[in-house]
Amino acid sequence: MKKKTAVVALGGNAITDKDREDNIPNQFINTEISLEGIIKLIDDGYNLALTHGNGPQVGNAVLRVELARGKAPELPIFICVADLQGGMGYMIEQVLRNKLNKLGISRDVAVVVTQVMVDENDEDFADPTKFIGQFYEPEQAESLKKEFGWKMKPFPGDQRLRRVVASPKPLCLIEKNVIKRLVEAGVVVIAAGGGGIPVIKHQGVLKGIDAVIDKDRAASVMARDIEAELLVILTSVEKVALNYSKPTQRDLDKMTLAEAERYLSEGHFPPGSMGPKIEAAVDFLKAGGSKVIISSIEKAYEAVNGRAGTTIVA
Ligand code: ADP
Ligand code: MG
Repeated sequence: MKKKTAVVALGGNAITDKDREDNIPNQFINTEISLEGIIKLIDDGYNLALTHGNGPQVGNAVLRVELARGKAPELPIFICVADLQGGMGYMIEQVLRNKLNKLGISRDVAVVVTQVMVDENDEDFADPTKFIGQFYEPEQAESLKKEFGWKMKPFPGDQRLRRVVASPKPLCLIEKNVIKRLVEAGVVVIAAGGGGIPVIKHQGVLKGIDAVIDKDRAASVMARDIEAELLVILTSVEKVALNYSKPTQRDLDKMTLAEAERYLSEGHFPPGSMGPKIEAAVDFLKAGGSKVIISSIEKAYEAVNGRAGTTIVA
């Protein structure tokens, strides 16, 4: 029998825990704790592709570039994303290899630096909304706009401005065939980290573009592209809720695709947090996926086995 294939998306809290100081040794500790459930899935024989967010890390990378201006060469955001796929991918791979080795589980692990195609005419490029990097006084902001062609917007509740970049819709993974083949061969693949390196294609030529892709949307596209049965989105809540954080909050064990779309349109899932996860679920199920599970990192294994989390089916 063909082994079950799942794409697992790790949320921001998998690597950076807000209760611990953010440094590399602590990121290793957090990653090790976060991967407990994943190890059990590997032990159960799942074929897995993992992906991860990079929010705090890419913010710091951009900050370093800005602080080093004039001393070290400028790095575009797509290079920061590519660098972090390597750095964060290395961390996850090493933690997985050490754990698998300790348990005597023989599975290979590899990181695939992943480019994700976007449309340069995506409507988000016209009016980008994703804030990135430092805060600037209006005069500084003006000169950066001229020098680098950046778009800058006032940050809500602040007099100063910040750079904004687009968050275009991911269309497909450039390395999808490689990822699919590796996953089918039983390799645990870490791919499309940070939502992937955004690229556009002009007359057959790929080119990086400064933008950030939502990691949940990218996970959904990866799950579709490698024909996974299951998409697992791990975050900081155990279940998806209606009326979230209100006295009338109701946690959901299950919902159908139709219900997910209805609750989304009713405003239960805000943009920038639960919204993209539900959209990712809807897109994957519409593209032929069988099941989506949303749960916490701690409950990953229980959720995949139907004992926790929110399950979404067509
Ligand atoms: P991640 O880094 O995992 O993508 P996000 O912060 O982007 O995490 O999204 C997860 C958060 O969404 C949860 O921690 C929770 O606070 C919030 N959230 C918003 N609406 C809901 C909802 N309806 N049900 C559950 N969580 C919700
Ligand atoms: Mg998020």
